[in-house]
Amino acid sequence: YYLEKNEYLQKLLRNNEKLISNASVYSVNQNLNELVSIWKGDITQLEIDAVVNAANKSLLGGGGVDGAIHRAAGPLLKAECHTLNGCETGDAKITGGYKLPAKYVIHTVGPQGEKPDLLKSCYEKSLSLVLENKIRSVAFPCISTGVYGYPQKEAANVALSTVDRIIFTLFLEEDVIIYETLMQVYFPVQ
Ligand code: ADP
Repeated sequence: YYLEKNEYLQKLLRNNEKLISNASVYSVNQNLNELVSIWKGDITQLEIDAVVNAANKSLLGGGGVDGAIHRAAGPLLKAECHTLNGCETGDAKITGGYKLPAKYVIHTVGPQGEKPDLLKSCYEKSLSLVLENKIRSVAFPCISTGVYGYPQKEAANVALSTVDRIIFTLFLEEDVIIYETLMQVYFPVQ
């Protein structure tokens, strides 16, 4: 049900680059569910359970989104990161959010250049931490497409195809009816 709609979104993004301008993204998004959404802005401002940081292997801060997150979270974030012994490319580690409105920061280290398996792993490892820590809402920046130079469109395809796999698998017809009704309440399609 929702997978179908996500595939539709992916197809739209793939086939029509013009959609990656704000106005159209919002209208595309409004027609879809709220499991996956697009928002344009500064990730440090989001009041959400967790934000993902496109970090480097040292986890001690850098430029771009990493710098913005460390500036907004304050020095205690760096102090906690010091205890983590860095992070491998494609892996992810979690810390508190400190002065950020987000409760947690998930630091993941994207690949330098176009390495789809490593980028996919960033999303997967980050999502594992989301599950382990019972996090209900999470925001991802565009991992690796800044200083690390991953081509944006290719990275967006990896991102969207990795995170759309939220499938409530129902076996009984009875459950299908229950879920179809409740999905309209929790995730209404406008
Ligand atoms: P990387 O080293 O993984 O390429 P960068 O921080 O250089 O990471 O860029 C990753 C993405 O983060 C880019 O799309 C950049 O525009 C974006 N970005 C920079 N600052 C912010 C911010 N405050 N909030 C969200 N995204 C940001």
